[in-house]
Amino acid sequence: MSHRPTDKSKHYADALSTLLPGAVHSNFRGGRDLSGPRLVSARGTRVTDLDGNQYLDLWAASGGLILGHQCEAFKEAIIRCLGTAAHVVNGVGDIATIEAIQTWFPHAERVRFSLSGTETLTNAVRLARAHTGRQTVLRFAGHYHGSSDLLLGGAAASPPGAPLLTAADPFGTEGRAAGILDRECRMATLDDPGAVLDLLDREGEALAALVMEPVCVNGGGVSAPPEAIGPIADRCRDLGIILILDEVITGVRLGPGGGQGLLGIAPDLFVTGKAIANGFPISVLAGRADIMDRFARGEVAHGGTYNGYPLGLEAIRATLELLSREDHAAWHRAEDAAEALARTVDEIARERSVPLHVNRFGTAVVLHAGEGPPSIARYDTLAARLADKRLATALQAQGVLLCPIARAYTTAAATPADLDWFAEALRAALKVDGAKIARLGQVADRAHQSQSHPQARPTTEEQGRG
Ligand code: PMP
Repeated sequence: MSHRPTDKSKHYADALSTLLPGAVHSNFRGGRDLSGPRLVSARGTRVTDLDGNQYLDLWAASGGLILGHQCEAFKEAIIRCLGTAAHVVNGVGDIATIEAIQTWFPHAERVRFSLSGTETLTNAVRLARAHTGRQTVLRFAGHYHGSSDLLLGGAAASPPGAPLLTAADPFGTEGRAAGILDRECRMATLDDPGAVLDLLDREGEALAALVMEPVCVNGGGVSAPPEAIGPIADRCRDLGIILILDEVITGVRLGPGGGQGLLGIAPDLFVTGKAIANGFPISVLAGRADIMDRFARGEVAHGGTYNGYPLGLEAIRATLELLSREDHAAWHRAEDAAEALARTVDEIARERSVPLHVNRFGTAVVLHAGEGPPSIARYDTLAARLADKRLATALQAQGVLLCPIARAYTTAAATPADLDWFAEALRAALKVDGAKIARLGQVADRAHQSQSHPQARPTTEEQGRG
């Protein structure tokens, strides 16, 4: 592919960095340097930057965009809403939206709305604590649940067999409430589901909630096998621990039923967001009526000026309707594109003799440099993150935007031409950078094999969550 000038984008980012710390709105946008493209227009699957370069957009609003840029039917629904009662507090869009959510997620007995995944997960934990009268939350290495003091970071650094408890914080973030992880949090790894059961047996009666991503999207796209999760869910029920599934990404990206459908488990509470509203800022807390009705009785507070705002509700209703039409044809289009993308990576990696591997789940594809094997521990190494970042940067230089670290989200706007574009870009990226990517992948593989050696601490940017 031709050389892509980036002078205007770079100039803009330099100016922005004197106004906006780091020239980014979130520390977790993958440590992109200031030479990344600044985007000015978008349509379908393509975006254009300030210098006039076109990119295939697989970043897709950090996974939020699922219908594609400027989907006409979605735009019409939003404009209709803007033209009626977009700024009322008690509108009449709630029931249609909640019914659409219940069709997609049969376990959504009751529903409340907020704006971000972070705040909704915080509310889910508050509910769980109120319901159980307990304080501590169990969660897992590699799983990301937003940037609150309690749910951000932590590590399961203990060797196998040792108690899976640690207060280590690989995000190294300062300003967190002192001792909060020690006091209120237990960490484990789903790479070892048996040890999780042991932990539940030992400490379960003190746990308010277990929080997990059904597929560990933020830890490299690794899914614990359903046969491992079922017993963990059962043990939670026996011990009265509230099982909170974080479906911020998986809820829609895994298709109707989300991760809970895939795993065949009924969470007590779950949280979703992102693609459910095609990237509009609105998130959903849903689950068991007996727990959720604590809000109704005022026993647990849930506040927010923008909660349930009409445009957000309409964005959810319209997205789910458009994804569901004709036997979920639009969702399947996005899934087919993801499947083809994963196949293409495999083929080109073999053709170019650069070890790459892919974890695909539904409409998301996580690319990795190296042989694998897929484990959360491998993807949590600094070496793996650097290798995957290099792969993403090489693809960006050839006209493909990925989400940090090297995650691709497909949309219903995907076309066969996108696949050709992607294949050409990957071939070019491996031609230019294949040797470096292969070397970094090998380092990551070796780092994983010697996990017992302490890792250097990744910075927040290298972590590339979000
Ligand atoms: N949970 C998961 C699984 C996520 O991926 C994210 C964000 N990427 C969050 C929670 C936090 O959501 P938000 O950024 O909307 O606060």
